[in-house]
Amino acid sequence: MKYTIGVDLGGTRIKIGLVNQGELIDAEIIDAHSGSGLSSQLPNLEQFIRKLCAKHNVNTHQLCGIGVAFPGIVDSRQMRIISTNVKYPDAPEIDLNKWVNDKFNTPFAMDNDARLALIGEWQYGAGIGVDDLIMMTLGTGIGGAALIEGKVLRGKHFIAGCLGGHMTLNMHGNPCQCGNIGCVEAEASTWRLPQMARESKGFESSRLSQIEKIDYEHVFNLANDGDALAMELKDKSVRTWAFGMVNMIHAYDPDRVIVSGGIIKHNENILPRFQEIINKHTWSPWGKAQVVKANWPEYNAILGCEYLLNQI
Ligand SMILES: [Zn+2]
Repeated sequence: MKYTIGVDLGGTRIKIGLVNQGELIDAEIIDAHSGSGLSSQLPNLEQFIRKLCAKHNVNTHQLCGIGVAFPGIVDSRQMRIISTNVKYPDAPEIDLNKWVNDKFNTPFAMDNDARLALIGEWQYGAGIGVDDLIMMTLGTGIGGAALIEGKVLRGKHFIAGCLGGHMTLNMHGNPCQCGNIGCVEAEASTWRLPQMARESKGFESSRLSQIEKIDYEHVFNLANDGDALAMELKDKSVRTWAFGMVNMIHAYDPDRVIVSGGIIKHNENILPRFQEIINKHTWSPWGKAQVVKANWPEYNAILGCEYLLNQI
């Protein structure tokens, strides 16, 4: 038995998983309150890690390591969070390596969350056997990652590949929280969606106007019911993500595009539309990158943590 813990620090939820050699044994999910910072969550994290281990009779001293997936720019060598965008604003000041060492006395590893999602799928999911992959995660924000010839792309300053959601699609577009304009994420993502809906013509007559907290589940359901604005928002969002994929394909030359994140989990029927746009608009004389849904949309980053820990 070779147990590890993976902690996926999402914008909305934190997932804590116990993994044994590529298999997720169990997981706990807690509310993230990511706007209020990470330090206030550390006691909770410790408690849930201990609870998960106790539930499965794993002594925390037996853990082969704890890995963290973070939604920002991460120096995976020095194991420091370099920069974050709205979520967990205090994270760059926190030494998680020391925290893990003090509390659990076990190895620590950390990387960007989309990069770990990609690693998880490459090793244990929809990317097995393929060494040229890109990942796009669709959720609160839009994450990206790239694997080229079997090497996870990180770059000198750790931003390579993981800013796929912040490539400009529209230079006359919406300001993004990252400082750029018209990013994929600023044009279509869960954080952007309510504003997008309210600014649209026809909002008052759409059933979306009766919903307090508009998310993609509402939009996709109402689009199926024929609500005109929901159909328009769905189409615009799917096209935005697809052209984001086209940009990433042009940048990283993958064989396969893996789509993950909360939005794709129950909506895999949008995959053919992605494929159609990729087939039509990528300049790839060798053929067309294939779009697939992640095998583990909830837990790929946690599985990726295990792989990272094995590399130490
Ligand atoms: Zn951006």
